[in-house]
Amino acid sequence: MDRNDRMIQALRRKIPTFACEPGCRDCCGPVTASSEEMARLPTRTEAEHAAALAAWSCPHLGPEGCRVYAERPLICRLFGTTPHMPCPRGKRPEAMIDRRTEQAIHRFLGQTRQVLV
Ligand code: SF4
Ligand code: SF4
Repeated sequence: MDRNDRMIQALRRKIPTFACEPGCRDCCGPVTASSEEMARLPTRTEAEHAAALAAWSCPHLGPEGCRVYAERPLICRLFGTTPHMPCPRGKRPEAMIDRRTEQAIHRFLGQTRQVLV
């Protein structure tokens, strides 16, 4: 496991979790991820990527919601856990993410090459 992988695992563990509204996908759309996160996601065809982007959506979004939930990128995990990215449905964890972890995530996103998922 390389340095970025270890960082991703460490950050994932620090992001608080919460239950979404069943079937909701209001916060899903085109997102970016590091190459380490991309390597954990199933491959999508060019056509699937193009169709998702044309619909301003994500190629991993299915009728029941995210199809890669366990491996979703950091930015998806962060959504709803900070006042800077509030859930439009008012869902949130019991305790929001701590400031240092949020800053560490943004630092990681800024320092790694991000590609469209
Ligand atoms: S965070 Fe909110 S908007 Fe996003 S899927 Fe969950 S309930 Fe829906
Ligand atoms: S990876 Fe999953 S949670 Fe993230 S935008 Fe795509 S479908 Fe939504």
